[in-house]
Amino acid sequence: MATNNHRLLLAARPAGIPGPANFTADAIPARMPGPGEVLLETVYLSIDPAMRSWMSEGTGYQQGIPLGEVMRGGGIARVLDSRDEGFAPGDLAQARLGWQTHPTIAGRHLQKLDLTLGTAEDWIGPLGLSAVTAYFGLRDIGRLRTGDRVLVSAAAGGVGQIAVQMARIEGCRVVGIAGGAEKCAFVAGELGADAVIDYKAEKDLSGAIARACPEGVDLYFDNVGGPTLDAALAHLRKDARVVLCGRISQTHAAEPYGVRNLNRLAAVHGRMQGFLVFNYRERYDEARAWLAARLREGKLRQRLHVLDGLEQAPIGLGMLFRGENTGKLVVRLIWP
Ligand code: NAP
Repeated sequence: MATNNHRLLLAARPAGIPGPANFTADAIPARMPGPGEVLLETVYLSIDPAMRSWMSEGTGYQQGIPLGEVMRGGGIARVLDSRDEGFAPGDLAQARLGWQTHPTIAGRHLQKLDLTLGTAEDWIGPLGLSAVTAYFGLRDIGRLRTGDRVLVSAAAGGVGQIAVQMARIEGCRVVGIAGGAEKCAFVAGELGADAVIDYKAEKDLSGAIARACPEGVDLYFDNVGGPTLDAALAHLRKDARVVLCGRISQTHAAEPYGVRNLNRLAAVHGRMQGFLVFNYRERYDEARAWLAARLREGKLRQRLHVLDGLEQAPIGLGMLFRGENTGKLVVRLIWP
């Protein structure tokens, strides 16, 4: 019997937090692979804050997705049929699959999973792009050094979890900022942060950072931007580094928040730098080798927040902006 490819298409550009109303569902017969192509069944989709900007019309760092097209997104899939000699049925691979159950993709756009490094779940979690982002952000942009006093925001999230643990592994003192008691308990108890700040319970975030980081901050890994970035800047130490990884707090701000404490950056001879993980494509293997080694040693973990079913993808995307995800958010379509 012919297999149907169930898809979620971008139907309306988001005005606020994205959700199911921005998408329509359809189903078309899965396309048999042509020469050099592979027919896949999607196993996991990664749900990431950047997707919100891809839904807009060319305002993000990548071109906006045209209305009516399959929503863009990366994930892991199993090969069903292949006309690329590099792939055989049953292989697991990762690619930009889109929000669909049965994509047909050129083999050259697929990367076969090296299952000696980790399971399919590891490849969407602690070996996935969020983890790789934390690796390059800390190592290349943050120039992480043993003994650094490190502060990480959105510390319970996909990128933040790995940043906290990586800094701990490298012999740093780490403070995590997260929203709510449960997430803070996770960051301290499970990830091993030396101190945590529940920013939702703090009226004076700068004061809370001063208490949690009495010697100041050598490296601030910023996932949220806005007032949190400002508060962190006020506590930088000499030669501090600020890694601009993301600014999720500003995604839906009517007016972008104007950072006020840049004078502190000058005063401490500090450096603030942004980056995009995609520009490290050539070095993903290096990051994954490091992450997989720590995984094997039992020093690294990543809590996933798993939603089941393609229809959950738009719901999951909205959860990221409400802080409702309790780990790296993924959608599972079938059991690997
Ligand atoms: P995530 O941290 O798993 O989920 C997003 C989290 O952001 C939420 O759980 C929430 O945590 C926090 N948040 C949401 N709205 C907020 C607000 N208004 N103020 C403060 N915190 C808020 O997501 P992720 O995929 O790991 O991404 C984390 C950041 O990294 C994002 O900014 C993303 O854009 C960025 N990123 C950058 C790159 C790159 O190449 N530079 C690559 C991947 C991701 P709380 O409940 O703790 O508030």
